[in-house]
Amino acid sequence: MSKLCVTVTADTTAELRRKRDDVVGADLVELRLDTVSDPDVAGALADRRTPVVVTCRPPWEGGRFKGSEEERKKILADALARGAEYVDIEWKANFTDLVSSTGGRRVVLSSHDFRGVPPDLRERAEAMRATGAEVVKLAVKTSRLSDCLPLHDLAASAKHDHTILIGMGECGLATRVLAKKFGSLWAYAGDQHQIGQITASDLLDRYRFRGLTENTAVYGLVGRPISHSASPAMHNAAFAATRLDAVYLPFPAADVDDFVTFGRAMGVKGASITIPFKVSLFDRMDEVYAVARRIGAINTMKAQDGRWIGGNTDASAFLTPLRDRVNLRGARVAVLGAGGAARAVAVALGSSDAQVTVYARNPAKAREVAMTASAAAAALPPPPDSWDVLVNCTPVGMYPKSNDTPLDASLLTGRHVYDLVYNPTVTRLMREAANAGCQAIGGLEMLVAQALEQFEWWTGTKPPAGVMREAALKRLAEFMRNENHVV
Ligand code: NAP
Repeated sequence: MSKLCVTVTADTTAELRRKRDDVVGADLVELRLDTVSDPDVAGALADRRTPVVVTCRPPWEGGRFKGSEEERKKILADALARGAEYVDIEWKANFTDLVSSTGGRRVVLSSHDFRGVPPDLRERAEAMRATGAEVVKLAVKTSRLSDCLPLHDLAASAKHDHTILIGMGECGLATRVLAKKFGSLWAYAGDQHQIGQITASDLLDRYRFRGLTENTAVYGLVGRPISHSASPAMHNAAFAATRLDAVYLPFPAADVDDFVTFGRAMGVKGASITIPFKVSLFDRMDEVYAVARRIGAINTMKAQDGRWIGGNTDASAFLTPLRDRVNLRGARVAVLGAGGAARAVAVALGSSDAQVTVYARNPAKAREVAMTASAAAAALPPPPDSWDVLVNCTPVGMYPKSNDTPLDASLLTGRHVYDLVYNPTVTRLMREAANAGCQAIGGLEMLVAQALEQFEWWTGTKPPAGVMREAALKRLAEFMRNENHVV
């Protein structure tokens, strides 16, 4: 089991001690003495209830210590002498006498590379181990998901179980969450977001860090940007509720090759796929299901016996909320937009006996989408009294432009308005549709439905629908709170 180490920083030693004592759920607390104005080892260590790692990072290794190297060395030596459980000593500092003063015991010999993955990573690890330090920590900056792979290879080949391997940056999240797979003695959590740290509660609650093993099945969301997505919350909540040994991570791939390389090497079992990879990853599948081929895009992949299979759950998920509300047979349906979602909607409607018209600002695109469903195509906006069901497949009205609407309220003359936008959960279009006497349906139900289908396809387990819906709502509310806070 990999341990959890929570990093604390503060302006003063007294505050550092308070923050140390406030940490919950950690096996170790890293005390960043370089961040305080009055570094006092005795004060920082006094009355501790959790084992600590004492760190006093110099600016040349990403820290904030303002004193001389001699003063820094004194602080580290003091921490060792006072019995700190671990003391972090930078490999490049060359404090060899300090390392040997305890025969390497309680020393975390660390190396941080903020430019990228050094080509001599393996040699560096060996040289660091040769010092006799009890723990060797290698942290490298990741700009691509596949930058994690040299760390993974190192873990696989190392016969040393006292190593910590960290990919800094958002592409390195897997090294933190999957510390066990990376052979890390412990993972760091905290609020050092600039180096890709996540909080202890995210690691423990969202990603169920304590329960993850070397065999944990890895799933995720491939896209960029994806930090706003509700999918990790939904799928991780479902894995927790069904007690599956699986985890779902955001995969902000730099490009399509990046995910293919990473996904194959890490044995990713399945992924949701979003913009901008829905078409480019389609071409990398060993097999693509018929619906996805008709849509021309995949939103889901599953690895099966080493083969990657692509599918699309958007089309059937789109129909889910309509099932009990709308009789599509003979209904006049106006689809607004001609992008990826409109294609999935058109394919879904193609087998429903509805009379579909695709309206888009680009008539050529509208015609192209219409062809997938034997539908008509026209320029925006749909005229009054021309539709029974209106489906918004444009992002108009989506956060942060929540005051926008794709259709003037005076044109809301039909019976049902279905807005695929789910953030906000109630859009201006939906409000105005309800005021005009239409039944309004939001995009959240489709969002949840496509995730339910993904979950079942990947795991063969019935998905906990209520749990996933709650998780999506909670995540969207959290997103709005954070955004409003920033504003
Ligand atoms: P997309 O591929 O980028 O397509 C967007 C479409 O909207 C394009 O046809 C675009 O026209 C059109 N459009 C954009 N701004 C417009 C404007 N101001 N006026 C008129 N048309 C405009 O995006 P997508 O993947 O289809 O997604 C569309 C929306 O559906 C997003 O809000 C997405 O979040 C939502 N969605 C929801 C779910 C769900 O589960 N609820 C699933 C998928 C998508 P051009 O081609 O001319 O640029």
